[in-house]
Amino acid sequence: MSEPSPRVLIIEDEPEIRRFIRVSLAEHGFTPLEAVNAAEGLKLTAEASPDLLILDLGLPDMDGTEVARRVREWSSVPIIVLSVRDRESDKVQALDLGADDYLTKPFGVLELLARLRVALRKRSQTRETKPIFTAGKLRVDMSKRLVFVDDRQVHLTPIEYKLLLELVKNAGGLVTQQTLLRNIWGPGYAKEGHYLRVYMANLRKKLEDDPAQPRYLITEPGVGYRLRV
Ligand code: CA
Repeated sequence: MSEPSPRVLIIEDEPEIRRFIRVSLAEHGFTPLEAVNAAEGLKLTAEASPDLLILDLGLPDMDGTEVARRVREWSSVPIIVLSVRDRESDKVQALDLGADDYLTKPFGVLELLARLRVALRKRSQTRETKPIFTAGKLRVDMSKRLVFVDDRQVHLTPIEYKLLLELVKNAGGLVTQQTLLRNIWGPGYAKEGHYLRVYMANLRKKLEDDPAQPRYLITEPGVGYRLRV
C-alpha cells in the first residue's frame, strides 16, 4: 500500500508565490490546497484537515500571526510561516504563538521541501522516538544519556545535555529561544537569552570541530537555534 500524499494548505494572497509553491509541491508528491486570504485559510484548515500549513504573514484580511494563534487554539498541525526580510518581529511572534518554522521570501524549492519534510517528520515522530540520534560524527544515546563525537565520549553538564536534547528532539527544525529558555530553565526565564549564548558556546566547544564555523549547532539570528542533520 502506498503512503497517502500529504495535503498541504497554502494560505497566501500573492498568486505568483502560490503558484510556485503549488507546482513545486505537486511535482514532489504532495497534494496542494489553496486559500487566498485568512478567512478562507481558517475555514479550509477546519474543513479539509490538511497535514501541514504554509502561512503567509502578510494577508489582506488578517495578520498571519493571528491566523497562527487561532489555529493553535484547537490544532497541532505543523505551520511553516512565510515572511519578508524586513518583518523579523512578525516571524518571531508567529513562532512564539506556535508556528514550527519559517521561510524568508524569496526561497527556493529545495529549501521549501526540506522544511516541509522536517515539519512532517517531527509530527510523526512525536509518537515513536528512537533512543539513538546520529548526525555526521555526532551520536546521542538518549536511553543512557551519553554523547559521542567520532566514537569519543563527550562529557556534558546537565544543562548542556538538556539543551542538546531539546535540539535533538526537533532535529532539523527550528527551536525558538523562548522555547529553549522555558523548557530548560523554566517559565520565568523567557528573556534570559544570554544564558543560551553562554551554554551554546560551551556545547559548540565540546561538539564542533570548529566552534566558529558550526556544522551542527546553527544559530538563526534573533529567532533561535537549529540542529543541522
Ligand atoms: Ca502577502
